[in-house]
Amino acid sequence: MKPYVLIVEDEEALATLLHYNLGKEGYDADIASDGEEALLMVSERTPDLVVLDWMLPKLSGIEVCRCLRATQSAQKLPIIMLTARSEEDERVRGLDTGADDFITKPFAMTELLARIRAVLRRANPSLIEDMLTCGDLVLDRTTHRVMRADVDIPLGPTEFRLLEHFMSQPGRVFSRTQLIDAIWGTEIDVEIRTVDVHVGRLRRALNANAERDAIRTIRSAGYALRAD
Ligand code: CA
Repeated sequence: MKPYVLIVEDEEALATLLHYNLGKEGYDADIASDGEEALLMVSERTPDLVVLDWMLPKLSGIEVCRCLRATQSAQKLPIIMLTARSEEDERVRGLDTGADDFITKPFAMTELLARIRAVLRRANPSLIEDMLTCGDLVLDRTTHRVMRADVDIPLGPTEFRLLEHFMSQPGRVFSRTQLIDAIWGTEIDVEIRTVDVHVGRLRRALNANAERDAIRTIRSAGYALRAD
């Protein structure tokens, strides 16, 4: 059974991007574009988790959150709220909204996906796939441990996230720009060269005791994890 996530977001481009990325990660996802629609959709099919924007037409995110908490079937429904970086932000955090977690916009997709996994794991551990494997590579998301052919590979946080991203779609070629968007986020100014530096570190770590290069460089296209 795929975990079912309801995205409540009126900003169409962001909702579509979230929907696409959740689908790619193996979630079943739907979009509600205002607060009333969100409540209706939850009553029709209870999601495993709700990603809830704070600023919404009709009913605000906080009102939706309160309504859900007051409904018996949704009392314990995991909710991650999206907030804008504004003066309101601190006040929002101080409020007893009943949300399980907050993420401030803009955020990197990998960050949101990691938070979704963490909240879902607390709520229902059986829904979460914590081990990724590809060939002789194993990545454990709970312990942040990576092994190649049963040998521990120490990785920095950025290299870990890069590898996790590659392993979510083995063989797929990611352009440097796609990697920046996924790992660092779209709003941060990261140079293309920075990607090369981190992929270089990841590659050296993975290949330290192996004969075969774990990563493919595709000239003028980007990088991929060897899937075979
Ligand atoms: Ca909004």
